[in-house]
Amino acid sequence: MTTIAENLLQIQSRMARACDGAQRAPHSVGLLAVSKTFGADAVREAALAGQRAFGENYIQEAVDKIAQVRAMADVPALIWHCIGPIQSNKTRLVAEHFDWVHTVDRPKIAQRLSDQRPADLPPLQICLQVNVDGGETKSGCSPQEALALAQAITALPRLQLRGVMSIPDPQPTPEAMLAVHRKVATVFEQIRASGLPGLDAFDTLSLGMTDDLELAVQAGSTLVRVGSGIFGRRSYPAAPAA
Ligand SMILES: *Cc1c(COP(=O)(O)O)cnc(C)c1O
Repeated sequence: MTTIAENLLQIQSRMARACDGAQRAPHSVGLLAVSKTFGADAVREAALAGQRAFGENYIQEAVDKIAQVRAMADVPALIWHCIGPIQSNKTRLVAEHFDWVHTVDRPKIAQRLSDQRPADLPPLQICLQVNVDGGETKSGCSPQEALALAQAITALPRLQLRGVMSIPDPQPTPEAMLAVHRKVATVFEQIRASGLPGLDAFDTLSLGMTDDLELAVQAGSTLVRVGSGIFGRRSYPAAPAA
């Protein structure tokens, strides 16, 4: 068995234990494999081990990789999630190449993604990104803005609002981390309970990474985004948004 396949099993067993500990159903949490900085071969290995959903941060890197993986005869169809910041001049590439986007934090980006989503593809699946702990400069809308943003997204014809995503900063203690995750979960629950039309597929709380997935599951995450826990340490970290 390859290292990536072994790592996937380990992450899945951490997720199962976390579900058990939180008294949640074992398959109530999905796994997004974050393949940024790793090549098409690493994606292939994970796909052959059964992984189907992949997350990418850097748009051009992702577009190239998606094409390479599609050309591999032994790799089944995969689902690609954009989890990196999106500038206006990159929305077309995102709308054309991804299945999901987790990082919609303002109406202007949502509008462009809807306008640019090709007619022959299904609606783009969207999580709005919320920032519960950061300063003004961090990506994500404030919890106060989240409902209005949800409303703007659900009104767009080529987008389907699926949920809420957040990237909380690491906290000094597990208790503090759990409290921040719970704030994100509250935003998710408030939108879900809002009665807004267009929420029929609103089922995704994208929360938790390699180091904090247990706490995220405890707080209600339905999709953890795991990179280094599957693919190993990245040899180049946050490149400037491409
Ligand atoms: C890189 C990244 C991850 C994965 O982080 P790991 O700590 O390697 O698991 C998850 N979510 C986002 C938004 C990321 O940029």
